[in-house]
Amino acid sequence: MTIPSHANVLVIGGGNAGLCAAIAAQEAGAQVVLLEHSDQQERGGNSKHTRNLRVMHNAPTATLDNSYSAQEYLDDLLKVTQGNMDQPLTEFMIEQSATLLPWLQRMGIHFQPSLSGTLSLSHTNAFFLGGGKALINAQYLTAERIGVKIFYHAEVTSIHLEDGAFKSAAVTNRGFKQTITADSVIFASGGFQANKAWMKEIWGCVADNFIIRGTPFNQGTVLKSLLAQDVASVATPEQCHAVAIDARSPKYDGGIVTRIDCISFSIVVNKNGKRFYDEGEDFWPKRYAIWGRLVAQQPEQIAYSIIDSQVTEQFMPPVFPSMQANSIEELAQLIAIEPSVLTATVTQYNNALASDKKTAQYNPKILDQCRTQGLTPEKTNWALPINKPPYYVYPLRPGITFTYLGVKVNNKAQVLMNDGTASKNMYAAGEIMAGNILGQGYCAGTGMTIGAVFGRIAGEAAACQLKK
Ligand SMILES: Cc1cc2nc3c(=O)[nH]c(=O)nc-3n(C[C@H](O)[C@H](O)[C@H](O)COP(=O)(O)OP(=O)(O)OC[C@H]3O[C@@H](n4cnc5c(N)ncnc54)[C@H](O)[C@@H]3O)c2cc1C
Repeated sequence: MTIPSHANVLVIGGGNAGLCAAIAAQEAGAQVVLLEHSDQQERGGNSKHTRNLRVMHNAPTATLDNSYSAQEYLDDLLKVTQGNMDQPLTEFMIEQSATLLPWLQRMGIHFQPSLSGTLSLSHTNAFFLGGGKALINAQYLTAERIGVKIFYHAEVTSIHLEDGAFKSAAVTNRGFKQTITADSVIFASGGFQANKAWMKEIWGCVADNFIIRGTPFNQGTVLKSLLAQDVASVATPEQCHAVAIDARSPKYDGGIVTRIDCISFSIVVNKNGKRFYDEGEDFWPKRYAIWGRLVAQQPEQIAYSIIDSQVTEQFMPPVFPSMQANSIEELAQLIAIEPSVLTATVTQYNNALASDKKTAQYNPKILDQCRTQGLTPEKTNWALPINKPPYYVYPLRPGITFTYLGVKVNNKAQVLMNDGTASKNMYAAGEIMAGNILGQGYCAGTGMTIGAVFGRIAGEAAACQLKK
């Protein structure tokens, strides 16, 4: 099957956002063509790695506890972004998230209650049965069944606009170049985190030590082409979701299992053996996304999370085994830190928890204020002495999930131009516009909600545009 020269609705990118958009547009009566850079085996972009999405709900559901009000959702996002967001658009997205689960279930996606140990998200996040891979497979199956024409190995290399409207896209398909026009286009091609040259422009050589958690195909080619043609941008280029992952992870596509979740039960030191941040600042779901950036700021972008035998059962074990030793000196040698320096760091930390300074009972389920006294930086929750061998260490690198620089949109998912006008035939969904909601920071599960909400709206709006 060759790529047609024209489509009613052209969708660029076959992750969750693109598939939601394609399914919504096709169901609303459009003939949809979806172009995906990867081959069929690697399809699904970053979405194939996901586990859940965050939805508002006013009462318990089959898979979500209690309720999660629009106000609570907004407060959570305001806290992590520090207000760096388009608030009306965010409120709109939160309202729309309330109807997502039945819509996704109609595509054959099943949900399950969250498992214990999954970042305590049981009242906020709906988990995909079988994970993101199962979600993606169900979405592709549905899209194919209803007639969306899907092309793999189809890389969009540039976009041609005229007077703020989409004219055509240049595509390389299995080595052959061609052009496709469309009545409307939906950009769903993700961020640019996998584009090392672009990341180096922003971060300098530090970016050499970044590990990309997801797909190598999110190169930002479409985003760059749009921003060069008067499309309005959102968020700054250095803003991204970055977590601490195991330094032994593959350069791309390591996925969820490489994340290190023991940080709040540990102390974290840099290669000089020094602590640099409060490991117990808040619950892990609210803080895990700052640790990639924190590690990126350390010498040689490496850090080490150290625990003892007391807490090994309290977090999800990562894919690589920890390194272990029976003394802190031995542990230091495993990670090439001067043993006397690491011993001094651990001793200082333990002394700051001495019984005369004891503040509260350790309880991993609450912000227990079991904290250090007189240490810089303090550890303000879940601080237990590190004194029960064996000792364990995980090496950490910045793991980049996705970048936030994107295109500006309105609540019809229409792409906005620099003069503030809405393009009449360009829409965007997913990571490529996530910066409208996330100017900085992150709340677990928001990425998939952004993709599903704006994908659905973009698809419906693009199809509706055809009828006008
Ligand atoms: C390890 C990991 C775990 C995550 N877990 C969660 C989670 O549990 N919950 C959550 O909400 N979020 C999670 N995220 C974030 C989430 O994956 C993204 O927010 C979401 O998948 C974005 O969807 P998308 O469709 O915009 O992008 P993607 O799913 O990345 O899809 C973009 C697609 O565009 C294609 N593409 C790119 N450029 C081109 C081009 N030029 N031409 C043609 N095709 C192109 C890519 O190949 C890709 O298939 C996770 C991310 C990672 C990496």
